[in-house]
Amino acid sequence: MHVVILGAGFGGLELSSCLSEELGSDVQVTLIDQSDHFVFGFAKLDVMFGRTSAESVRYYYRDIVKPGVDFRQETVTSINAGAKHVVTDKGEYDADVLVVALGADLDIAATPGLAEAGYEFYSPEGAERAREPVSSFESGTVVIGIMGGFFKCPPAPCETALLLHDEFEKRGVRGATRIVLVTPLPSPVPISPDTSKGILDAFAERGIEFMPQSRVTGIDTAAKALNLADGSQVAFDLLLGVPVHKAPEVVLASDLAVDGWIPVDAPTLATSFPDVYAVGDNTSAPVPRAGVFAEGQARVVAAGIIDRFRGAADETRYEGVGTCYIEFGQDTVGRVDVNFLGGPQPVGIFTPPSTAVTAEKEHFGSSRRARWFGG
Ligand SMILES: Cc1cc2nc3c(=O)[nH]c(=O)nc-3n(C[C@H](O)[C@H](O)[C@H](O)COP(=O)(O)OP(=O)(O)OC[C@H]3O[C@@H](n4cnc5c(N)ncnc54)[C@H](O)[C@@H]3O)c2cc1C
Repeated sequence: MHVVILGAGFGGLELSSCLSEELGSDVQVTLIDQSDHFVFGFAKLDVMFGRTSAESVRYYYRDIVKPGVDFRQETVTSINAGAKHVVTDKGEYDADVLVVALGADLDIAATPGLAEAGYEFYSPEGAERAREPVSSFESGTVVIGIMGGFFKCPPAPCETALLLHDEFEKRGVRGATRIVLVTPLPSPVPISPDTSKGILDAFAERGIEFMPQSRVTGIDTAAKALNLADGSQVAFDLLLGVPVHKAPEVVLASDLAVDGWIPVDAPTLATSFPDVYAVGDNTSAPVPRAGVFAEGQARVVAAGIIDRFRGAADETRYEGVGTCYIEFGQDTVGRVDVNFLGGPQPVGIFTPPSTAVTAEKEHFGSSRRARWFGG
């Protein structure tokens, strides 16, 4: 059996690890990514706040040594899901099982003025570029502005606000600064009122301003202000922007895309094409865009492939379960344990911030690093 996995992010790395662990070289896995390395989403904040260097958060695919798994650094240029045929800049592949895990791209141009007047911090390069303006900011208003309704890791902009507060306190400039978070969401983490309250309480204690249900339509570069859908403006001296997200072009140009994303059967992650699955940020699965969800989906697809290989009934179903860690600043981390699909309605249970949860989050990263890259 030849399994072709497009994308070696959270989803692709977990899927290839599960298949190798269970089936070894009995199954041929080709794992394709355009990059030569992986970066955890949360590491972008570490880079932006100068807690580490951009190089030290890169994990290189050349270090993957897993029976049955062949990593190829290639750019996927065409996907024909009907034929399970993939073309890259270096070759062509025919799959028995095809899994698309290409993530979400950032559409900076979708918000007029963002490229000229703001800094996006959701890509590794963007986070590195934002580091200097953040570390040298001494007075005025920083606006964290979310440009679209779907974005990776919904708590991340809130974490950014709390970490900015720490950064300014540390440098003694907090009194001369305002921190404003502008979001289209009604609350910081809509699935969990307790988590939202925990974050809003932390904002109130620190004087961080929160503007919910605020849709950005563009940026007035001359006035240095966000234009909101209600006609008002929010002025800034420094704009940290979360761009509109979109599926990668190669997905949009394929037979998989419907309304901009890949629709999947939520319990199985199957697409409308036989033996073609999609996991993670490039799907329209009814869960947030986050690594933990991509990883959980990958485990379900892996279980299905393993069962099929062994001739067993495929009974594993995806329930949208995951743990998201939230940095509250002052070296503390909170946690929300969510279950989107397993019960009558989505639930999210909040664990308040502490240094014990900080240690858990560190383990979350280091255990994945060891599992996916060894060492
Ligand atoms: C600031 C920030 C903080 C975050 N914090 C967290 C957190 O604490 N916890 C959490 O769970 N999630 C977090 N996330 C979200 C998380 O990073 C993503 O949701 C997750 O990486 C999605 O996994 P994926 O496998 O779907 O896609 P990705 O991990 O994005 O992987 C997609 C891969 O596809 C490759 N690719 C794309 N197009 C092509 C092509 N044409 N050819 C070849 N390869 C291609 C890319 O190079 C990439 O490696 C955070 C994100 C950000 C931005």
